[in-house]
Amino acid sequence: AATGRPLLTCRAVAKSFGGIRALQGVDLQVEEGEILALVGPNGSGKSTLINMISGHFPLSSGSIELQGASIDGLAPHEVARRGIARTYQIPRLFNHLTVLENVRLCAFFGGASDAQGESPDELARRWLAFTGLEAKADVLPPALNLHERKFVELARALAARPRLLLLDEVLCGLTPTEVDHAIAMIRKIRAGGTTIVFVEHLMRAVVALADRIAVLDQGTLLALGLPRETMQDPRVVGAYLGT
Ligand code: ADP
Ligand code: MG
Repeated sequence: AATGRPLLTCRAVAKSFGGIRALQGVDLQVEEGEILALVGPNGSGKSTLINMISGHFPLSSGSIELQGASIDGLAPHEVARRGIARTYQIPRLFNHLTVLENVRLCAFFGGASDAQGESPDELARRWLAFTGLEAKADVLPPALNLHERKFVELARALAARPRLLLLDEVLCGLTPTEVDHAIAMIRKIRAGGTTIVFVEHLMRAVVALADRIAVLDQGTLLALGLPRETMQDPRVVGAYLGT
């Protein structure tokens, strides 16, 4: 559960793409141990915020700190070393490497928390078992279905031993049964001490998982709070209805 200690602090984060203001003035603190859902209409800036935290896009202005240390300007692999791992809205696997090799690669390059003496191979196999993909270890990604590709991405992020895990629409396109499986996995990941920020449209998953939710609308943080209260906030309802 959330500890009240800040793990990640975003201050006045802003991002423009040419003339498009994708984010502006986003102040957000993620507590160690919490699960924070990032929600909002399409194009509201959710993926952009994930991309800024993970070092994939530089900030236009503002700052982002992990446990009090600035991570601004770090490359994605340097952010990963500090203990932030992520999945992508559209899975990005190396198609010429097997599932096991894909996961093992991230075990080599990851993370901040203890490996507890496990080799990259052991780490990779453990997380493949966790996601139910042991039988797919030697398969190439193009032979996988969407849910398998998404779970390989999750295994890959976990093998990097993150303190903070960022999930961008990891449930999108899954069947209800696969969603249930994923919700149970995400709960276990948090129980293991990993803090999680997840972007999600599926409200039943948001309500099932999130300690707090942050609502983005047109690049600004519209609301932040407990899930049910926040989703009933008239401004949030308005943003979703486009009023
Ligand atoms: P969300 O994930 O909430 O659907 P995004 O963060 O992907 O929204 O996009 C927010 C805004 O930023 C949109 O207007 C989108 O078109 C724009 N945007 C996102 N990424 C880029 C990019 N690489 N280049 C130009 N515009 C972008
Ligand atoms: Mg997105």
